[in-house]
Formats: sequence, structure tokens, C-alpha cells
Amino acid sequence: TLKKPLNERPMNYRVGCPERDAVMEELERQAAMTIDIPCIIGGKEVRTGNTKACVEPHRHANVLANFHLAGKEELEMAIEAALEAKKTWKNMPWEHRASIFLKAAELLTGPYRTKMAAATMLCQSKNPYEAEIDVVCELADFLRFNAYFLQEIYCTQPESSANVWNRVEYRPLEGFVAAVSPFNFTSIGGNLPTAPAMCGNVVLWKPSSTAVLSNYYFMQILMEAGMPAGVINFVPCNGSDFGKYVVSHRCMAGFHFTGSTEVFQGIWKQVGENITSYKSYPRLVGETGGKDFIFAHKSADLEALICGLVRGAFAYQGQKCSAASRAYIPESLWPAVRERLHEELKDKKPDDVRNPKAFLNAVIDKKSFDHIKEYLDYVKHDPDSEIIEGGNCDDSVGYFVDPTVILAKHDKTRTMVEEIFGPVLTIYVYPDDKLEEIMRSCDKSTGYALTGAIYANDRLAIMEMEKALTNAAGNFYINDKPTGAVVGQQPFGGGRGSGTNDKAGSAVNLYRWVSQRVIKESF
Ligand code: GLU
Repeated sequence: TLKKPLNERPMNYRVGCPERDAVMEELERQAAMTIDIPCIIGGKEVRTGNTKACVEPHRHANVLANFHLAGKEELEMAIEAALEAKKTWKNMPWEHRASIFLKAAELLTGPYRTKMAAATMLCQSKNPYEAEIDVVCELADFLRFNAYFLQEIYCTQPESSANVWNRVEYRPLEGFVAAVSPFNFTSIGGNLPTAPAMCGNVVLWKPSSTAVLSNYYFMQILMEAGMPAGVINFVPCNGSDFGKYVVSHRCMAGFHFTGSTEVFQGIWKQVGENITSYKSYPRLVGETGGKDFIFAHKSADLEALICGLVRGAFAYQGQKCSAASRAYIPESLWPAVRERLHEELKDKKPDDVRNPKAFLNAVIDKKSFDHIKEYLDYVKHDPDSEIIEGGNCDDSVGYFVDPTVILAKHDKTRTMVEEIFGPVLTIYVYPDDKLEEIMRSCDKSTGYALTGAIYANDRLAIMEMEKALTNAAGNFYINDKPTGAVVGQQPFGGGRGSGTNDKAGSAVNLYRWVSQRVIKESF
């Protein structure tokens, strides 16, 4: 039997250490090239000639790759290749399937560690630490823990008696699974197609167009690890084509998604409209938007709170779904919080990933930059809010947005309730004696429920807050920032507008990709 895996430990990339030198050298090697990225369908490279560029967000003049977009013909070809591959894949004993992904984890953490980290740094604008915890540690954890959970699932059988034998078969879904992954974590890019594939499913994987480089290199690792042709088909394409030719296809049996609430709801509607044409009800699993909070009680430890605010809101430019983007601070703590926040943020300017002093880098693309800028412009004229830190942005070289703190006059201003997905934190300062009322508002004001953190030392307050915010977050933190869930320790996902809460990196998620047949035999 497989033992419960240990989490992959992040390497220390301090300046001057050999690991850092190696990753920076690899980064320059990759930055100097412009590679051509094909679709991979049925194990074969397919080039359509309809290409798009993948650039460095912090230096957008540099093109890292041109990737080929799949169209109708290629998507149909990919469905055919997947269904063909399924004939043997579904009959492969689960141990053999799992072995392929365990091998991929070894390749990733061994020979390809530096290459994968550099690609993630370059195309998603991450510093070495953010890249390491993503594409190396979390992705390896997803692969290893999912293999372990797979064992748990396949080895779970109901009780039987002397004259009745009960058995469960865990079969893959009938058809193929569509996986659509986001730019912000290469680990999620890797998890969305591999979790269903491990369960015997075949997959069409549409990576995010702003993460194609790192995602493509991971696809190559899967092939090197022995994944048979056609099991996962790598098809970068336009969302509208994917919707039209894949999501509406009668053989789509599941949809594994991380991305915006709006897109997921669109898919759900489309599935609803086509519901009578599918072979079976497609399983829809999604992790979507968030408006994650930090709620401080007057008994909070100041330094812990400041660390949570700075790292929770601004690490990776606030582009984690889990990033803190609204905070509730009691009046009694506010003067100290404001002073310490200013000290922490005054020198934190976004810069190129090559600058070891840059705590944050660029936001992902022009669209995202414009979206964030719109909010900053709006706030500059909003009588109910005020920018107290940062507020500037510049996209001449890279898509840079300063870490920004907005002070809101009431707790329902636009930036307190709408998802911005950038380095922008809005703070509402509440009267200490209004704790309960403000907690109710925190719970209800956004329609999201992904992550949230409370900071308090008073045990009774912790109990009350935990209870009052029962449904406000799928991942709830006490005296810690709301980001950085670790596979196997804090399975990740939320409810309401934030997703189906089928916890990534857990048996709960894998159960969505199997269809059970229960067999009773009497003697
Ligand atoms: N699991 C990540 C975290 O805890 C966030 C995942 C996401 O951005 O979708 O920070």
C-alpha cells in the first residue's frame, strides 16, 4: 500500500545560493528563446498556424512562445483521440495509472524542477519562492496525494456477509472530461486534467492562454512519465470554441474548472440548455471567484495581523483566488495598524522577477491591468473611499500595479464587495462595539465564500467569530493569512459564488470523477 505522502518541501531561494543561481540562469535561457507550442492531440503535435503570443508580464515586449490555437477541427479530433484512448485507459489497473503520475512527480521535483520554476516565473510573473510553492511543491503534492486518495477510494468496499457479497466498482465517467485551468497556479493547471485522468477518465485540457508555457512543459513531463497518447489532450483555444465544440458535445461527462464565477456560470447555463443531449448528467466541479476577508478582533496580535494583511493581500500581486481583498479592523487597533502597514508597504514596489528585492511582480496581462486601473480611477472620485497606500500603476514595460490600500467609509463600498483580482486591499474600520453587526455584514455582503481569516487572541471571541462566519468561507483561518492552503492538510475550495466546494487535492474531488456500480451477489 501507498503510505501517506509527505509534502514536498520548498527550496530556499535566498540570494547567492546555488538553487537561485541555477533558476536565474535557466530563466535567462528561456527568456532568450521564442518557442513554438503545438496542441498535443492523441500524443501528436498539431499545428494550426493560428497562433497567439505568450509574453513576460513584467517585460511584455519579450515573446516567450507562440502557441497554436485549436479550432473546431482540432477539438473534434481531440475528442475522438480521447475516446479512442479510453478503450485501454479505463481498463488499466488503477495502480498502473497512479504510477504514471507518481513518476511525473519525481520528474517534476527532480530533473525538471529548475525548468518548471523558471517557466512559471517568466510567463506568470512569479518570484522564485512563489513559483516554487506552486509548480514544484503544490503540483507534486497534488499528484502524490491524489494517487494516495485513489488507493483509499478503490480499496473502500462495503461489508458483506456469509451469503451476500457486496462490491463496488469505481468506474470512470462515461465520455470525456473537459478541464479548463487558470493562469495563476501551474499546480492547478496540472491538477485539473490529472485528477480525472487518474480515475480512468480521458481529458481535453484547455490551459489558460497566459500560462501556456509552463503548462506545456508539464504536459511534456506527463508524456515522459508514460501517460498513453490521447489520455490528456492539450488544446489551447478560444473559450468560445471550447464552449461550442467541447462543452456542448454529447459525450462530455465532466467539467473541471478554476476561473471566474462568470465563466463557470455561463458553462453551467450552457450545460443546462443541452441537458437532454448528454449521455449522462455532466459532473460540474468549479472553483471560482472570491472576495476573501481578514477580520481582526480587538484582541488580535498586531504583528501577526500585519503579516497576514501584507502577505495575504499582496503576495503574487493579489492574484490568488484566496488573496485577502477586504479587511475589517477595530477602531482601537486602527492607528497602530495604519502606521505599521505604511512602514511595510512604503518601499514595496512591483518589479521584474529578476529583481531579488521585488516582493511583488507584474499582474498577468493588459486586460487585468486595465480592470484594476478602472477600480483605482473609480476610487479616486468616490466620496466613500480613499487610497491611503499605493494607487499608481504603469504598463509601459510590464503590467505593474503598486500595492494599494483603500480605506472605505462604509462596509459595502464597491471595492469592499467586488472582486478585483490584483494587489488592492480595502479596509473598513469598525467601531469595537459593533463587532456582531459587522460580522453579519461580512458574511452576507459579497455572494462569495472562498477563504477568510480572523485574528484574535481572546478565545471566546474566536469561538464567536468562527460561529458567526460559518458559511462565509470554505477555507477559514484563525490567526493566519487566508492564502497558501497545503495539499493533504487544508483541502481547498469554497461555496456560494466561489464554487462547488469539491476540495481540490482530496478524496472528495476524486469521487466526482468516478461513477460507482454497486454489485450485490447472493449465494
Ligand atoms: N490554493 C491557493 C491558496 O490557498 C489558491 C488557489 C487559487 O488561487 O485558485 O492560496
